[in-house]
Amino acid sequence: MSQARLMDGTALAARILEETAKRAAGLTGRTGTAPCLATVLVGEDPASVTYVKMKQNRCRKAGIISRHVALPAATTTEDLVGTLRELSADPGVHGILLQHPMGDHIDERAVFEAIAPEKDVDGVTFASFATMSFGLPGFVSCTPGGIMRLLDEYGVDPAGKRAVVVGRSAILGKPAGMLLLARDATVTYCHSRTRDLSAAVREADIVVAAVGRPRLIRGQDLKPGAVVIDAGYNAGNVGDVDFDSAVERASLITPVPGGVGPMTIATLLEQTVDAAERQLAA
Ligand code: NAP
Repeated sequence: MSQARLMDGTALAARILEETAKRAAGLTGRTGTAPCLATVLVGEDPASVTYVKMKQNRCRKAGIISRHVALPAATTTEDLVGTLRELSADPGVHGILLQHPMGDHIDERAVFEAIAPEKDVDGVTFASFATMSFGLPGFVSCTPGGIMRLLDEYGVDPAGKRAVVVGRSAILGKPAGMLLLARDATVTYCHSRTRDLSAAVREADIVVAAVGRPRLIRGQDLKPGAVVIDAGYNAGNVGDVDFDSAVERASLITPVPGGVGPMTIATLLEQTVDAAERQLAA
């Protein structure tokens, strides 16, 4: 069998960001107000600091204002809820990104729920999960939303296909499966308690790897011709899929890096402009 075609997330993300920048400029021209994303960071975890900086840089390039709120690591759930409620009520802020993880002392669900649904551009609230799972308009979790865009870009229609999602985290695996189900895939979730992962993966027309274990899924685990989406990002730029063996068996595959990764920020910025358009039209 010939090698799989690569799904180029870098190129697609660049196109989405270009279009997003045009829409941001148009909105600013029409209303005199630029879209604004508030980024909230608790503590100084180096990876989180880097992610937030990347998001701010991309905002600047796209004509989106970013308002950064840096809070000390010792911030309580109550204080964080207060900050998020203030941002939710502030008409100058159109989208809110709360960088996670935030530390074990914070009640993650309580703080996410303090984000107003109309500003939940990172798709982390129960309201967003509900619209995602019913396939209704609303904000999607950014990485799963980016995965769906990649599938669409490469002409993969999930309807009727068997999709196996490995991982069930609230920000990635679970919503990825919900979005695939909403598009009529037959979805199986695998996780750390799954008994025979290889057997489940072998059934899949579409595999989404969202685990955080380097090269967990190997070429021999795949059904020939499967579409392989590797959302994993592990030390040394390694995904959750063993690329070298998987590329020999799949029909389409995302590289790491340059596959799913760039789609996350593109989706975040696109949804920030969506949010600003809705709020400024109201
Ligand atoms: P997470 O919260 O740690 O969740 C990992 C999931 O994998 C859990 O559901 C866990 O099962 C499951 N799992 C762990 N070991 C397993 C095994 N041996 N077999 C099957 N399932 C197993 O991680 P996450 O935040 O979803 O992130 C997953 C990966 O995606 C990481 O590499 C992360 O860096 C990457 N990521 C990338 C982006 C991006 O590209 N922009 C965004 C977010 C995350 P249990 O639920 O049973 O514990």
